[in-house]
Amino acid sequence: MIHSFDALVLGGGAAGLMCAIEAGKRGRRVAVLEHADRLGKKILVSGGGRCNFTNLHCQPDSFLSSNPHFAKSALARYTPADFIALVEKHGIPYHEKTLGQLFCDRSARDLLGMLEEECRSAGVSIFLNTKIREVSRGAEFVVQAANAEFHAPVLVIATGGLSIPKIGATAFGYDLARQFGLKIREPRPGLVPLVLDAEDRARYCNLSGVSAEVIASCDGRQFREKMLITHRGLSGPAILQISSYWNKPQQIHIDLAPGSNLTAIFGDPKTPRTSTTLRSAFRKTLPSRFGDRWLAHHEPRSWTKAALADVEQQAHAWAITPAGTEGFEKAEVTCGGVDTDELSAKTMESRKVPGLFYIGEVVDVTGHLGGFNFQWAWASGVAAGRAL
Ligand SMILES: Cc1cc2nc3c(=O)[nH]c(=O)nc-3n(C[C@H](O)[C@H](O)[C@H](O)COP(=O)(O)OP(=O)(O)OC[C@H]3O[C@@H](n4cnc5c(N)ncnc54)[C@H](O)[C@@H]3O)c2cc1C
Repeated sequence: MIHSFDALVLGGGAAGLMCAIEAGKRGRRVAVLEHADRLGKKILVSGGGRCNFTNLHCQPDSFLSSNPHFAKSALARYTPADFIALVEKHGIPYHEKTLGQLFCDRSARDLLGMLEEECRSAGVSIFLNTKIREVSRGAEFVVQAANAEFHAPVLVIATGGLSIPKIGATAFGYDLARQFGLKIREPRPGLVPLVLDAEDRARYCNLSGVSAEVIASCDGRQFREKMLITHRGLSGPAILQISSYWNKPQQIHIDLAPGSNLTAIFGDPKTPRTSTTLRSAFRKTLPSRFGDRWLAHHEPRSWTKAALADVEQQAHAWAITPAGTEGFEKAEVTCGGVDTDELSAKTMESRKVPGLFYIGEVVDVTGHLGGFNFQWAWASGVAAGRAL
């Protein structure tokens, strides 16, 4: 059976649905081809089931890409306020949790329901359980699926990144980019817990569950948020954020007590210079089990002023060399992807292959934690949808 459309969108996630809605509203006959048995599975699991759907403080600086300017145009033309207006039009209750992060009050299902309803009213055709076997391009694009063939002059790839294969992530978008001769920036896990080497695991990981507010830094970036010790390494928002900037075998630095002077008490000559006093000084700022453990591995070499200053300095720049990450199974996003040099920043269309568009996470644009990845999915989807 052959189906003909004005545009085919491969992948029914955040970016694909938004693109299809925008193009459908403009009168295009659009089909979304999704290999899973339902749309938007990642939307449903996102933000702990409540979907952190955007961030009020969305700036180009909140995104990583080999071309930091690329995302600017799409982000400026479809802003958090635009998406919030859509959410409000559907009467979906939401709230700001922290740092500009907006979440559904009830459930991410509200948001997916909104996108499905918008698809219906824009006349978008949805094909679920559609396993794509081959894509070719002659006079038109031809997408060969297991039991149907789809033709269209325009093809939009919105198949996402590699994170969380068990909810449907595939390398399809990258494979297709290679097929059409588009460059790829090596995909790697982002917003992902870090794994410590055996020595540091033995030192710290039986404290799993302990958390502290820190500043994590790497590669010239820093994030002040919570760090969490896990049974294999480090996680929590500060670590997830910095993981996107980390490349093996770089070190990361962690300020364990931002803004505090842990050893200030020793400025008083009457304070006894002992391990007990030092431990109790650390306990005032750090969780006691972690402070004690950290000090056990960073004892002052003596009790001189210089040695105490050295401990203070180390506590504000604890150097860790992670052994690796928890990988795509645990990563919230994929860094890297289709090279932005290949695409128009205004429309997301391939410069080499007219009619081929790439949007969403499969592109080399990755947001920080906090709703930025969905904002990129919406904005890049709309940018392409307006150009179809
Ligand atoms: C656990 C988790 C929680 C997250 N929470 C948040 C959050 O709260 N806020 C935020 O901003 N970001 C969050 N993210 C990131 C966010 O979900 C993604 O960045 C966003 O979904 C990317 O949208 P996309 O449309 O590009 O890709 P996806 O949403 O991944 O959609 C891609 C679609 O393509 C389909 N597909 C894949 N391969 C094929 C194929 N071969 N044929 C047909 N269809 C295919 C997939 O099934 C999927 O439906 C989270 C991610 C995870 C994993």
